[in-house]
Amino acid sequence: VKIQSLRGMPDLFPEDLEKWHIFELKLLEIFNSFNTNEIRTPLVEFTELFARSVGNSSDIVNKELYSFLDRNEESICLRPEGSASVIRAVIQKKQEQDKHKLWYQGPMFRYERPQKGRYRQFHQIGVEYLGFEEGTSEYELIAMVLQIHQSLGIQDYTIKINHLGDAQAKEKFCTSLVSFLEPQIEELHEKDQARLKSNPLRVLDSKEKSTQELLKNAPKFQDFISEKSKRFLKDLVNAFKDQCNIQIDQSLVRGLDYYTGIVFEIVSTELGAQDAFLGGGRYDNLSNQLGGKDMHAIGFAIGVERIIELLNVKHTSQPLKVGFIIAGEQIDKKTYKIANDLRSANKSIILDTFLSEGSLKSHLRRANKNNCNFVIIIGDDELKNNQAIWKDLCEDGDQELLSFKELIDKYTNL
Ligand code: AMP
Repeated sequence: VKIQSLRGMPDLFPEDLEKWHIFELKLLEIFNSFNTNEIRTPLVEFTELFARSVGNSSDIVNKELYSFLDRNEESICLRPEGSASVIRAVIQKKQEQDKHKLWYQGPMFRYERPQKGRYRQFHQIGVEYLGFEEGTSEYELIAMVLQIHQSLGIQDYTIKINHLGDAQAKEKFCTSLVSFLEPQIEELHEKDQARLKSNPLRVLDSKEKSTQELLKNAPKFQDFISEKSKRFLKDLVNAFKDQCNIQIDQSLVRGLDYYTGIVFEIVSTELGAQDAFLGGGRYDNLSNQLGGKDMHAIGFAIGVERIIELLNVKHTSQPLKVGFIIAGEQIDKKTYKIANDLRSANKSIILDTFLSEGSLKSHLRRANKNNCNFVIIIGDDELKNNQAIWKDLCEDGDQELLSFKELIDKYTNL
C-alpha cells in the first residue's frame, strides 16, 4: 500500500506555489518599508506556553493542539500560532524593555476538522509590534494592512474592529454576560452552553441562531469600556473609513484569551464559510502571563492559504527561458562547463537543461512545452569544433552557429 500524507496536511507543488512566491515578495517589500524585521522561532514548544497564553479554555488549546510527550516525558506541541512564541523568545532574551517591530512566517498546526479553507497544517504570516502603548501603533498596523491589500489587488474585504477595554473591563463584562445568560441557559445552543462555562466571551462569536436571538438583549461590551477606549475606537475607524470598508463589530471578541484593547478581523465574501483571512489585536498582558516584565504588544496574523485565494496580481515580467540541449552521444564535461559559464554570465535568464536522453525532436518538443524562448543545441560535431547552435523558438525564428565565446556574449547581452 502507498503511504498517504496526514489528513488536512496538503502538499504544495510548484504550480500551487507560484502565487505564494508573488505574495511573499510583495509582503517582504512592505515589511521592509515599515522597518519590520523577520524573527524565526521553533515549530515545537512546550505545551505550557500555549496553555498559559492562548488559554486553557480556548478551542485551540482544548481540542486542537498537536501535543505529545517527548522521550523525556515532557509535554511538547507543534505551534498552533505565532504570537506566543515570539513573546516567549523576547522574554527569554530579556528584551522586554526594548522596542521591536517583527514579522514571522511558517506552518501552524491545529487538529481541526479539515474542510475548504481549513487545514491541520496551514501557514501564517504575522506581525508583532512590541513595546508600543495604545496609540499610533494601532494606526500603523491598520495602515500596513491596507498597503498589503492594495499591493495584492484585493478589493472585496471588510475590516471588523472592536475594543475589548482593559483586563478589568473584560472581566466585568464577562461576569455580567454570565449573569444574564445563566438563567436562560436552556435556550442556548448546546455548544454555547459549554462555552458559557469555559469561555463565556466565545458565546458572542456563536453562529447559532437561537444564541444570537438571546444575545440581542444581552449586556453590550461598549457599556463596560471607558470613554477613552470608545473614543479611541471611533477615531481609529474614522481615520480609515474613506480608504476601506471598516466597521465596528461589538460581537467580535476573537477566539484567544489574551486580547485586550483593539481587536480586528478581516473577512471576504469571496471565501465561503471560512471567510476570515486576517486577525489581530492588542495583548498587553501576554508578557506578564508568560512570566516576563510588562511589555505592550499588538499584532496580526494572515492566513496564507486563504489570502492566496483572493490574490489578484501576476508576475509583471516573465524572465527569458533558454533550453539547453545536449544532443551528443557522450557525456562531456565541456558541455557542463558551458552551462555553468552561461549561468554565471547572466543570472536573470532561466537555463533549462534537458537531462534525459532522447531525440533532438523530442527535446525541442519539450522546450516548446516548457515555454522556452530559445534553445542551445550541442551535438557531437559542435562539441568537436567548440561551437553551439542557437535557435530562436518564435515562429519563423532562425538559427545560427556560434563559437562558445560568441554564445556567452549573446547570452550575456540577451
Ligand atoms: P487565528 O490565529 O485563529 O486568529 O487565525 C488567523 C488566521 O489564520 C485566520 O484568519 C485564518 O485565515 C487562518 N487560519 C486559522 N486557522 C486555520 C486553519 N485551520 N486552516 C487555514 N487557515 C487558518
